[in-house]
Amino acid sequence: MAKQYETVIGLEVHVELSTKTKIFCGCAATFGEEPNTHTCPVCTGMPGALPVLNKKVVEYAMKLGIAANCQINRYSRFDRKNYFYPDNPQNYQISQLYLPICHDGWLDIETASGNKKIRIHEMHMEEDAGKLIHDEWEDCSLVDYNRSGVPLIEIVSEPDMRTAEEVIAYLEKLKMICQYLGVSDCKLQEGSMRADVNLSVREVGSETMGTRTEMKNLNSFKAITHAIEGERARQIELLEEGRQVIQETRRWDDNKESSYSMRSKEDAKDYRYFPDPDLMPVVISEGWIEDIKKQQPEFAPEKAKRFQQEYGLPQYDASILTQSRRMADIFEETAGLCGQPKKVSNWMMGETMRILKEKGMDPEELSFTPSHLADLILALERKEINQQGAKQVFEQIMENDVEPISYMKEKGLMMVSDDGAISRAVEEVMAENPETVEDYRGGKEKVLGFLVGQVMKKMKGKADPGKVNALLREKL
Ligand code: ADP
Ligand code: MG
Ligand code: ZN
Repeated sequence: MAKQYETVIGLEVHVELSTKTKIFCGCAATFGEEPNTHTCPVCTGMPGALPVLNKKVVEYAMKLGIAANCQINRYSRFDRKNYFYPDNPQNYQISQLYLPICHDGWLDIETASGNKKIRIHEMHMEEDAGKLIHDEWEDCSLVDYNRSGVPLIEIVSEPDMRTAEEVIAYLEKLKMICQYLGVSDCKLQEGSMRADVNLSVREVGSETMGTRTEMKNLNSFKAITHAIEGERARQIELLEEGRQVIQETRRWDDNKESSYSMRSKEDAKDYRYFPDPDLMPVVISEGWIEDIKKQQPEFAPEKAKRFQQEYGLPQYDASILTQSRRMADIFEETAGLCGQPKKVSNWMMGETMRILKEKGMDPEELSFTPSHLADLILALERKEINQQGAKQVFEQIMENDVEPISYMKEKGLMMVSDDGAISRAVEEVMAENPETVEDYRGGKEKVLGFLVGQVMKKMKGKADPGKVNALLREKL
């Protein structure tokens, strides 16, 4: 019988923190600026420049650690990881090897096969490197140091995942927690969340771990899934041929859908780690940990429960709305303003999600003013606009955050509430269709629909069909 294999996966995830400034200097940590405009002697590794730790980074690491059920080390330290590379001007990266800030936590994940705890080995603070830009035409490489010294937290899991689905669920969970905490926007495409996948295979039932490889350069969930499937197949094939898996770092090429060897696996000793003599140990008081615990936000599961109780939302709505903190906040504010939680939820889950998907946007990027959606819902309620017009207005709210009432007036989308105008249209239609009127009076009641349609057409759809119906019956 053919052998059955199990995949074993552990992740090393880097998240770039959304602090205003870098980890060891006062340079802005903003993304996407002109190259080398946010640099100073510290983050370009000039001789004699001294790093000063950004307190916010410690705070963010503690928040994330606490949210992921970690122990916080009251005493942690920074170490130098020594290596040469042009994007690393100091010739070492400041990281934490021996005493990281957080350790021994876990995250709960949910997949089709149920709930599971993924253990977290540790989280540590470190600095990002600069960015090399390889110029295809000039055959040279340029370096941008804006990213050099941007704060990162590396989250190292235990090898507890078994499938790509579990890996994605774990990353989604981590991303959601970071976004709820406001510590990182976690965009894989922009590199503010980066996942290295460590993977090995072993025969089902075996207690010992197989030799693993580490895959880098995975910048979408799709690439991660493909890489996991591809690497599992490659390792099984090697083992089936009686060969061995070599412990190495591989780079995934999503276009070719295959990975290639980048370098043999390096060890801590290769980097000659040692405590950074320029930085003091990080000493955290019990009081500070307590303060952070008190400030932790309400996370998705509790929020979803509260939405069901407080707003009477179905469980489905509550769980969807709380997948993104931004979405949940907009929902709550809008519901408070118009007092129609289920209607707000319908707009968020329907049109909002549809437009987000169409534009390839993350719910965290939602930026419209809650009172604008509230006003639109109230206008619908007052029958000042029909459903179709409201959708048109909502697209403008999503896109340009327009004020709905003035937009409706400007574009002539307001419904005609004036009975006089509707009456006049009814009379005109009756005068133009004498035979139909006779048919109706002669007992053919089903022609009423046609007459209503004619009136609506005259009113350019801007009348309440119920009202048109009533007026027609009256006059007929
Ligand atoms: P190193 O320090 O050499 O990078 P670690 O022990 O820190 O190695 O592990 C790095 C990552 O690799 C962790 O996420 C861990 O869960 C994962 N890992 C370790 N051994 C295996 C294995 N045999 N198969 C799959 N993943 C593994
Ligand atoms: Mg490691
Ligand atoms: Zn700087």
